[in-house]
Amino acid sequence: MNLKGKCACGEVNYVITDKPLFTQACHCKNCKISTGSSYVIHTMIFEDDFFIEGNISSTELDTGSGKGYHAYFCIKCGVYLYCKYKIASGRLAIRTSTLEKPITPQAHIFVKDKDPWIEISNKDICHESMYDRDKTWPLDSLSRLSEKEK
Ligand SMILES: [Zn+2]
Ligand SMILES: [Zn+2]
Repeated sequence: MNLKGKCACGEVNYVITDKPLFTQACHCKNCKISTGSSYVIHTMIFEDDFFIEGNISSTELDTGSGKGYHAYFCIKCGVYLYCKYKIASGRLAIRTSTLEKPITPQAHIFVKDKDPWIEISNKDICHESMYDRDKTWPLDSLSRLSEKEK
């Protein structure tokens, strides 16, 4: 399976060649600023499955955990396409609104910071802050991850 995405001006195009590991919406304050909106939706993939064309630029930003991450942008239109967390080596978090087809989040995180006018109907997938990955990700994704980390 291939998932395709692009920036707003068309300078940058990318393809994801394997199924994402997990997709989550984050309502934290950092994600609000970096999207200029209420939340971000990230889908986690292996860097090996990511192929990108066009010129990008990157900058280093802080995370709540203090470990930091690199954010990647189109050099022309500035659309923020994906990021790479320092604690998640070999993986990328793609901003799903840059994909051709949207992906439904499997979890909502940092719901404690959620904008009050947003109602999430599925309360079972809401987490006040971060979740425990081993209890939240599907078994298939956990085994793909442990296979890759060997
Ligand atoms: Zn662009
Ligand atoms: Zn966030």
